[in-house]
Amino acid sequence: MNLMMFFKCKLFTQPKTLCLLAASLTLASVSMAEGNGRGGGDNPTIGAHDAWFLGTESIPYCYELSGTFGATSSQIETEIEAAFQTWGDYIEEKHVNARPSDHSDRPLINAHHRKLAKCDGSEKLTFYFGTDSAEIQAEKAKYMNPVAFVVKKSFDLMTGIGSGYIWIANQGGVLSDGTGITYPDWNKTNELRAVILHELGHVFGNGHVPGTIMAEDFSSRLQYDQGVWAKRIDDKAELYSCEECSVTGVVSLDTEKAKVAFKRFTGKEPVGTPHATITLQPTLTLSLTDTAGTYTIALTLAKTPSGEIDVSQISLDAEPVFSASMKNAKGEWIGRARHLDAGVAYATAKDHDGKSLTLTIDFNLTSNEVSFPIQVKYFDQGTRRDLLLARPSRHK
Ligand SMILES: [Zn+2]
Repeated sequence: MNLMMFFKCKLFTQPKTLCLLAASLTLASVSMAEGNGRGGGDNPTIGAHDAWFLGTESIPYCYELSGTFGATSSQIETEIEAAFQTWGDYIEEKHVNARPSDHSDRPLINAHHRKLAKCDGSEKLTFYFGTDSAEIQAEKAKYMNPVAFVVKKSFDLMTGIGSGYIWIANQGGVLSDGTGITYPDWNKTNELRAVILHELGHVFGNGHVPGTIMAEDFSSRLQYDQGVWAKRIDDKAELYSCEECSVTGVVSLDTEKAKVAFKRFTGKEPVGTPHATITLQPTLTLSLTDTAGTYTIALTLAKTPSGEIDVSQISLDAEPVFSASMKNAKGEWIGRARHLDAGVAYATAKDHDGKSLTLTIDFNLTSNEVSFPIQVKYFDQGTRRDLLLARPSRHK
């Protein structure tokens, strides 16, 4: 399963007494790894998908570097800081700590960090760049050809602070299946950054999510593609969908279809390229814009006689296939898979003739190679047409 669990600590949403009772338990160490091809062997254990650090305290971290790692300490320090920064920015930009459905007293997810001069036992997170020890060897033996792995060693339920380490292989330390090629290659653009970003993503509570830096196959993808995607979190999909943000995109990718869609809702031919913005919070609103002006269309969540969405209308040709979630007439999430941060909302909108059209709003569904964080489609005489395909250009 490639579903995500972003930063949730279920224990913290329980009544305080439960947390107190549970506080004397110690967490067995858990780990995740990246391998090549048949390797990897990720079998996340309970607790592996919870963030290691909650609250606001800076995470003390240190690193150890082997002489054969293949990158200098100054390169490493730059990459670690940049990866932390990317995650911190992402958490802020996507309002990760502001999900309305969450408990208001839930601790904030934390990417604050401070580098220790050396590993002296006070660190909570250690990066091992190619170094070896009996502990690392024992952990490595659990996987086939790991490029990197994370080991969460403890988590203090009272403070919300855990501890553990990230291990990353030496330059050329992994032999690729069958090809005789060795990797990783830290001379390749973005390769080290991508690995640190990915492993930190596990530290921040993420599992593997296709189409993002958390993709399970990201390390093999790095063999042939060191694009800019390797320096950011989202790529073909969003790791975290911000419901409070608005999203801008084009009105269909096809010029003729875009004209049809635009005219359907505004009654006018678009002047120039039409764009659309969808706002999910506080109200569901769609704005269509061309160079002549902006038309705002209020969307209403669709109703059925039972007060819920007619799920029989759902037809998703999405990969990975999972049970899509949806909202009911009250705007509540229903049928939402537990760790799923994607969804489908059904809405109705009036076109310029006053005719009611059904819309689907798909969040973050990856459909093969053509996928967008938000797709809005409308049903016109039974045919599903693109209205908005939006890569995230988000606004608060
Ligand atoms: Zn991983």
